[in-house]
Amino acid sequence: MRPAHKLAVTAALLFVSGLALMFWDCRTIQRWQSAVARVTYSELIPFTAGGKTRYRGELELRYVARDTVFRVPYSVPASSKSMDAAKEDLMRYRIGSTTTVFLNPDNPLDFLVESRSSPRFFFLPAGMIGAGVILGSISVLLFSSMQRWLCPDCATSVALHHKFCFACGRKLPRAKKWVSS
Ligand SMILES: [Zn+2]
Repeated sequence: MRPAHKLAVTAALLFVSGLALMFWDCRTIQRWQSAVARVTYSELIPFTAGGKTRYRGELELRYVARDTVFRVPYSVPASSKSMDAAKEDLMRYRIGSTTTVFLNPDNPLDFLVESRSSPRFFFLPAGMIGAGVILGSISVLLFSSMQRWLCPDCATSVALHHKFCFACGRKLPRAKKWVSS
């Protein structure tokens, strides 16, 4: 196989397996069971990112799964550089309040808060689909550079990038009549 063909096959495989994986992940997410979790601990924790202080809510969630009580720490995904804004954001996770968690049926310590959708399910498949599209475009470019076309005067096969026909010296037009190599 030519490199361009190998590249095209790789691109197609990446694209198709990315789609399959995304479909599989969607099916997996459907199996995650919702449960009510109670906030048993809630505190604003300052941390430094890029030399600046930011604030993030750290919680402890308590929920029941498989007849067992779990107390699991959870960091609120959003952080804020303003302490007041972060405090306001943390109001919905006051101690004693409840929130919905979605539990991994294979591991009750693995959970998502409030929503089943999480980038972790889509990061890898989206990356594979993206790589497939990029490699596919490169292989299309390679295929077109491999192609040749015929001189309109003497019908000699000339490479695409040539401006003059090497056989008869005719200046070649921009409009290209494609022929396969
Ligand atoms: Zn010619």
